[in-house]
Amino acid sequence: MTRETILSNSPVPEEDDPNLRPSRMADMVGQRDVIERLQIAIEAARQRDEVLGHVLFDGPPGLGKTTFAHCIPSELGVPVDFLSGPSLKAPKDLVPSLTNLRPKQVLFIDEIHRIPKAVEEYMYTAMEDFRIDLILGDGINARTHNFKLRPFTLIGATTRAGMLTGPLRDRFQIREHLDFYSQEDLTEIVCRNAMKLNVEITDEAAAEVALRSRSTPRVANNRLRWVRDFAQSRAAGKITAQVAQDALKMAEIDSLGLDRLDRRYLDTLIRVCLGGPTGIGTIAATMNTVTDTLADEVEPFLLRSELILRTPRGRIATAKAYAHMQLDRPTNSGQPGLFD
Ligand code: ADP
Repeated sequence: MTRETILSNSPVPEEDDPNLRPSRMADMVGQRDVIERLQIAIEAARQRDEVLGHVLFDGPPGLGKTTFAHCIPSELGVPVDFLSGPSLKAPKDLVPSLTNLRPKQVLFIDEIHRIPKAVEEYMYTAMEDFRIDLILGDGINARTHNFKLRPFTLIGATTRAGMLTGPLRDRFQIREHLDFYSQEDLTEIVCRNAMKLNVEITDEAAAEVALRSRSTPRVANNRLRWVRDFAQSRAAGKITAQVAQDALKMAEIDSLGLDRLDRRYLDTLIRVCLGGPTGIGTIAATMNTVTDTLADEVEPFLLRSELILRTPRGRIATAKAYAHMQLDRPTNSGQPGLFD
């Protein structure tokens, strides 16, 4: 089960409005250090007339990995092909993209941590020497042909850098971690996108939407669209702070920006698991949901908000989580240091 609400945090690509996605790095908000480093590498590659080194982005969903994969080729003035890790089941699935590369092209692989070992190993020589082995013919007539590729830039995106093997990680010359956005940057994104969506919003309302968007641009976009719909049908189209609050309340987004699934996680950890430490598998099974959804979409923001801690023995709810959920801490929590 994934998030079921209309205000989903989930990285469902069709939910991303292409009109809201910046197409140049100069139009991206925040991530200044990452952008600056990339601009230097891009400029140097252009001056040397070489391909840009392979780039790996990691970080929770919705923070801009795919956006970078749109902006980088556009800065380089080269085409880009989009592939998804789970769809690459065998090396042959990668061959058409590799053999049809256009000069200095970018190849983007989303969820690169989900490619099977055989595909990963096939990519090693492609990335390092721009060569692959092609099997031509069948049965006893089969022979291996070493095929030279056009030099290209691979951009990989992952929500789980820890799941990548060392040899694959080491083949990326540029590795960037995308962090959550500041309240200021997110407010800026909400203001810009309200303009693009042609809806009037006050500064206070933009700050309110940003505050309840889990420090994540995709979530901010989703929530802005909902608030816009609400304003249109209930408030003559203008988004004021009150309208934003009413709309988000109706969608069950709380003061910290947590939605139903986030709160169900905290409720399970606190009430059912007595505050932990509890393994993520147990929490997922108790909630009747899948571990990956919790690990990718729920936990990163709860950790960042200091509502949970990840320990070697499992997840623990913090004092802030008890206060936020308005639940009393159990007397037998076994974690005295956390509350005193
Ligand atoms: P990811 O690939 O990390 O899951 P995306 O790049 O698809 O995330 O981002 C989701 C949406 O968030 C984009 O469509 C875009 O509208 C918005 N977004 C992401 N990063 C930025 C940014 N730095 N500035 C402005 N908007 C952004």
